[in-house]
Amino acid sequence: MEQITTIVFDLDGTLYEDTHHFSYYAELLKDRLAPEAQERFEKDYSAFGQGELTLKIGRVYDAKKDLVLAHHHGEVTQGWKWDGEIVPSHEIKELYPDPLQFDLLDMLSIGDLWWVPVAIAKHYGLTSEDAYKAFLQTREHMMTDDFELMPLKEFADVLEKLHEKYTLILMTNSPQTDSDIIIKKLGFTSFFHDKIFEANKPIHTAETLTRISEKWDVPFDRMLSIGDNYINEILPASLLGCSTICIDPYDIHENSVADLTVHNLTELSAKLEELLLNDTVN
Ligand SMILES: [Mg+2]
Repeated sequence: MEQITTIVFDLDGTLYEDTHHFSYYAELLKDRLAPEAQERFEKDYSAFGQGELTLKIGRVYDAKKDLVLAHHHGEVTQGWKWDGEIVPSHEIKELYPDPLQFDLLDMLSIGDLWWVPVAIAKHYGLTSEDAYKAFLQTREHMMTDDFELMPLKEFADVLEKLHEKYTLILMTNSPQTDSDIIIKKLGFTSFFHDKIFEANKPIHTAETLTRISEKWDVPFDRMLSIGDNYINEILPASLLGCSTICIDPYDIHENSVADLTVHNLTELSAKLEELLLNDTVN
């Protein structure tokens, strides 16, 4: 990591680890379901919390076929029906002869907690349009004064120091208005040299990293991508030759390509301090 000059950060789950907005989001999604589906949604969402739902972080939900999939670099390794029944492997091979192509509508990579209630709601018939409305409403709620957001002190300190020595770039899938407010609540407004909103990761991750590389005149091997969503921020960046740090609170990435994996922001802060702010290295 000695030659790093530019660091690209994800926002949610990366710059803060608060999670109470996910229950708010789940409530909104549930309210948009037919009355008879609401109870089942609730049951499944709490089963997820207990680790008892077939759908887990790290898996994929194929909304069109209503199947839960495990995969390795896009190759499906196992498939389940929603209730947990295993789909025979010869059927899986026929259904998914090619590596999975993730999108934000039908082939959902359950990379972080945002995707869990959405996948459950889609299983019970919610449209992508309604899901997106609930997402925007949640982001709106996060902008209000009712939603408090405290930065992790050691991370805030590290970020402030990094900002003096490195080019810091924010790249988030979220819209600008609410992201700016979240950044402001965290007190990080002045720390970023560039911000990219509605980045449409993972579809446009490589394209956007290439744009950053050109704009800031920095080769990929001097860029570091940090995020908590493996498919969005780690895999595509690594394929380009960027260094990567994956925040993996659930230990789901066994064969990760990330240069470094941490469990949380406390560990991330310590590693960034050690690797990038240690004056004997730089
Ligand atoms: Mg994230």
